[in-house]
Amino acid sequence: MSVFSHPEFDGHEQVAFHHDADSGLRAIIAVHNTKLGCGLGGCRMWPYSSDDEALTDVLRLSRGMTYKAALAGLPQGGGKSVILGDPRHDKTPAMITAMGRFVDQFGGKYVVAEDSGTNVADIRLMAEVTRHVGGLADARSVAEGRTGDPSPATAMGTFIGIQAAVRAALGRDDLKGLKVAIQGVGNVGYRLASHLHAAGAKLWVTDLHGPAVDRASKEFGATAVPMDEVHALDVDVFAPCALGAILNDRSVPQLKAKIVAGAANNQLAKKRHGHALLEKGVLYAPDYVINAGGIIDIFYEGPDYDAAKVHAHLERIGTTLTEIFARSKATQRPTGEIADAMAEEIFRR
Ligand code: NAD
Repeated sequence: MSVFSHPEFDGHEQVAFHHDADSGLRAIIAVHNTKLGCGLGGCRMWPYSSDDEALTDVLRLSRGMTYKAALAGLPQGGGKSVILGDPRHDKTPAMITAMGRFVDQFGGKYVVAEDSGTNVADIRLMAEVTRHVGGLADARSVAEGRTGDPSPATAMGTFIGIQAAVRAALGRDDLKGLKVAIQGVGNVGYRLASHLHAAGAKLWVTDLHGPAVDRASKEFGATAVPMDEVHALDVDVFAPCALGAILNDRSVPQLKAKIVAGAANNQLAKKRHGHALLEKGVLYAPDYVINAGGIIDIFYEGPDYDAAKVHAHLERIGTTLTEIFARSKATQRPTGEIADAMAEEIFRR
């Protein structure tokens, strides 16, 4: 297993491997770029089938965080960590504490937050041995009803992004009667459905989990649709809020929506699907731009949390997308490529 010649290595500043014999922790931290600030990113725990798969993930994800933070206008870089193991069977408090000590060795160059396989309680445990943690609500936040869960801000940012996409593709400012299909009504998708419903949109929803669909149908009058049909509905907007690689060889030709704008990470199966969407005349809101609400919220979390300030920052997701859409239209290049180039302009400046 090589690092410097690894296909996902992209000039990462630091990559460290750690084994803690007492707890059995095996983890990797990758810091991609800290030109704008410390590398913030979640700690993912996953039963990787090989060390190389874990390294691939942490290199790719940490790089993604640099791009995301830059376009979100945050003074932050990109980092990420992975723990090799099954969170349901292998995770122990001793392992999480050992992970906290590993994070601490970076002296603030890497700041850890939750990701799949870890949760706020794990980050709290890490916070006992390192102060380099993000996204933890303090006592005042909890009293005001915030838990440190970034989903509400992600949903609001996605809603703002959909408004910008509707303006660019359909030339309208209001969402009354807009038809939106949402794939996945979990933490983000459910809240997005709530905002869209309040704005007068008509909703179609699907989810692996039946009760999630029932809740959206009951509360927002959403029509339930089969999982394998949601992307092909005759709607204005398709909002992927479940899994990655949903925009692929099978789904793109079947799309009828004029806009794809949702919170899911890594929506394009391959880069070429960005080109396919452009050729088809579908406006795609790059995932890491529209779903940046969570890291924006984490940035502001702390004793001086100011909801109005956070909302104003979330509004900038709309402004950034509007610029991406305009540059894409002017150059006929896919929106994802435009977003990458804009992010690079910022963090390589
Ligand atoms: P979640 O697990 O709460 O919700 C995802 C929902 O999708 C679940 O209800 C699940 O049952 C459903 N689902 C899974 N596979 C499906 C399928 N094939 N078809 C239909 N539904 C399916 O996760 P979340 O926090 O709401 O995140 C949703 C997406 O947004 C993920 O891709 C996540 O990486 C991304 N994202 C989330 C945040 C955040 O703040 N939570 C931030 C950035 C990006």
